Amino acid sequence: MGDASAATPPVENLVVIGSGPAGYTAALYAARANLSPLLITGFQSGGIPGGQLMTTTHVENYPGFPDGILGPELMDRMKAQALRWGTRLLECDVERVELGQRPLRLFTSEGATIETQAVILATGASANRLNLPQEGRFWSRGISACAICDGATPQFRQEELAVVGGGDSACEEAVYLTKYGSRVHLIVRGDRLRASAAMADRVLANPSITVHWNREVVDVHAADETGVSDPDQAGEDEAPWLAALTLRDRSSGASERLAVRGLFYAIGHTPNTALVRGQLELDGRGYLVTRPGRPETGIEGVFAAGDVADAEWRQGITAAASGCQAALAAERWLAHHDLAIPVERQPVDPEPVRQPVRTAVSDAANFDPEALWQKGSYALRRLYHECPRPLLVVYTSPSCGPCHVLKPQLKRVLEELGGRAQGVEIDIEADPEIAQQAGVSGTPTVHLFLNRELRQQWRGVKQRREFMAAIEGLLTVPA
Ligand code: NDP
Repeated sequence: MGDASAATPPVENLVVIGSGPAGYTAALYAARANLSPLLITGFQSGGIPGGQLMTTTHVENYPGFPDGILGPELMDRMKAQALRWGTRLLECDVERVELGQRPLRLFTSEGATIETQAVILATGASANRLNLPQEGRFWSRGISACAICDGATPQFRQEELAVVGGGDSACEEAVYLTKYGSRVHLIVRGDRLRASAAMADRVLANPSITVHWNREVVDVHAADETGVSDPDQAGEDEAPWLAALTLRDRSSGASERLAVRGLFYAIGHTPNTALVRGQLELDGRGYLVTRPGRPETGIEGVFAAGDVADAEWRQGITAAASGCQAALAAERWLAHHDLAIPVERQPVDPEPVRQPVRTAVSDAANFDPEALWQKGSYALRRLYHECPRPLLVVYTSPSCGPCHVLKPQLKRVLEELGGRAQGVEIDIEADPEIAQQAGVSGTPTVHLFLNRELRQQWRGVKQRREFMAAIEGLLTVPA
């Protein structure tokens, strides 16, 4: 939470929905205008908190960072800046809105009803899927929508991998995956890359990337459907791993097989506007319609910022700029209608932001059998054998934004349990053998053990209460 001393008004001045660059910038401006904004981060619907920059690596075109900055780190900084000036955070989804009455009403996934005078919609956009006939069968078993999250998975090491798409995301992911795969195939449906020239040049100059022009992916297959034996198939009962794609040449119509162990989607995004469908005007592609060049929507006091209303530019910096515009417009609108209740910040100049403390990898010298949270294979071995309590093991990879979101949630669960459960983090890039043994096929993956027995596992970002309920279930039932 931000400044806890700021009193919560019965009706909020301004709620910002979304925690990408647009949301945090809007909240920062509104907080500095003494509006004490409430920012609802979004959690599972429409991607992860922090937005699309959480699933990118180096952002090289955000001004002010001449050497580039990692997407998750940039989002951490924006969040810290918004909080420092008094933004209050709610980490959940907005499930329903009622915009046809005053005050406006929002209903959250935590069961709360929030009334507000103004709202800024900054819900961003979600990654698209190809919806191939056998996609469900291989989802997380070779197919992924996030190369940056899942690329370090052991099953992809030194294997041939494919990325679909021709935009900046596809190019970035193709280059990133050359770190892990033996070759990366970029499947482009047209005869040119849509990506920025700098990105496209990097791909075309990379000898580990083969571009397949005018190709579409028709379906995905297991090894047994390709006549190839599968060395990674542990047992007959285990679901198969992706082994090949069928591609179709869009010019000639001819089909071909391409043997790959990974398929990564980077085929654009769909705006997250389901929340307001039927209440606000959307264009043919589902983007929010605003006044031309401005953040106002068709309803007074409802503003839009970022990718949710931007079919054209969709950059971190343009999203941030539109968040600023939306906050200034909301502030003026609230003042004009005399609706805002200003909340004075105390102290006037907030404390500087403190840098987060990183957990050191445990070894024989610093291992603590009672510590709530430790890192590395040494701690896992010790805790797996010796820990008498529920043990959460989270598998992460260094640039994985969703891991970045999930770790503090898990730490909070362990803190709230006050030592009745412990946690250990395994970086699958540093410890690939452990990840392989554990059958980890992407990050973040969380395993819950009790007495060396795997009791539950989760993939991706989940709500804190899911972990809490599972651990409490183990604490109440005799082992
Ligand atoms: P884009 O919409 O820019 O590109 C999507 C790509 O996927 C296009 O090449 C499109 O093909 C292709 N595609 C769409 N549907 C299909 C399909 N069904 N089958 C095959 N291919 C398909 O999305 P991005 O996610 O790449 O980028 C979104 C925005 O984010 C852009 O504005 C981009 O500049 C920005 N971005 C910037 C980065 C940076 O600067 N560091 C990094 C990543 C993104 P076609 O070209 O034929 O339409």
